[in-house]
Amino acid sequence: MKSFKEKSIIITGAAMGLGLATAKYLAAKQANLTLVDYNKEGLDAAIKEIKTDYPSVNIEAVSADVSKEENVKKYVAKAKEVFGKIDGFYNNAGIEGRQADMVDYDLDVFKKVIDINLMGVYYGLRYVLPEMVEHGGRIVNVASVGGIRGVLNQTPYVASKHAVAGMTKNAALEYGKHSIFTNAIAPGAILTPMVEEAFKQVNPDDPKAAEAEYSKRNPTRRLGKPEEVASLVAYLLSDDCNYVNGQVIAIDGGESNMY
Ligand code: NAD
Repeated sequence: MKSFKEKSIIITGAAMGLGLATAKYLAAKQANLTLVDYNKEGLDAAIKEIKTDYPSVNIEAVSADVSKEENVKKYVAKAKEVFGKIDGFYNNAGIEGRQADMVDYDLDVFKKVIDINLMGVYYGLRYVLPEMVEHGGRIVNVASVGGIRGVLNQTPYVASKHAVAGMTKNAALEYGKHSIFTNAIAPGAILTPMVEEAFKQVNPDDPKAAEAEYSKRNPTRRLGKPEEVASLVAYLLSDDCNYVNGQVIAIDGGESNMY
């Protein structure tokens, strides 16, 4: 894969998990990074970690909540101001919400999941796409296997991730003519803080047992690693990705093919 030297890439939800793993991967390839998160302390710690390994990488940190339109305008403007353009956008920030039967689902949590996972991704597209029209670009939205399948007890998450898959297809249709390639990834269970939290909900006394039980049904008999997702995202953000557009790509060890 070509280097990302001189490429300006925005990553949301960069303080930990999938966002941080991709930030590290692209730092190694010399990208100029605008890293966004609403957890300011976490983001500062993440940047310190990246800078230790890659001291010469250019990083702009923006503390922003992706569910707030003004915050989204702020991070897009910052990336443009500091790096002069936006070549790639990893529209990644998201939350799981709580697990509950759909009829009993707490409405405030439901709306929060929709605000972050659906509106946050939409605001990102709304303000990044116009910045790419002149020179083209690459966008990776983060859906989930919950964006192509149902997942028990996660109604707002599944609804929001199906919406991400839909918006990905529309962005591809409407902006492909500007050489903007928009795709989504649909990860299965990847071992990040979000998934560790989910296993705590399944078995508060022994989350590791819940993880082992869950891993048994995967064809590979294990969970995914954030670095494995990062390499797929890096491809989709690179100039090598030149005709893949509007796809929702599962990265789940093959589990979503199972009946
Ligand atoms: P994580 O909880 O480990 O990290 C998410 C990061 O996003 C955190 O740093 C958090 O502070 C940030 N964030 C959350 N809401 C935000 C907001 N409103 N504004 C700004 N920052 C915000 O989660 P993760 O596992 O790395 O998940 C990243 C994305 O991948 C999410 O969209 C998630 O739904 C999706 N996903 C993850 C998995 C998985 O197995 N880990 C599977 C499918 C999809």
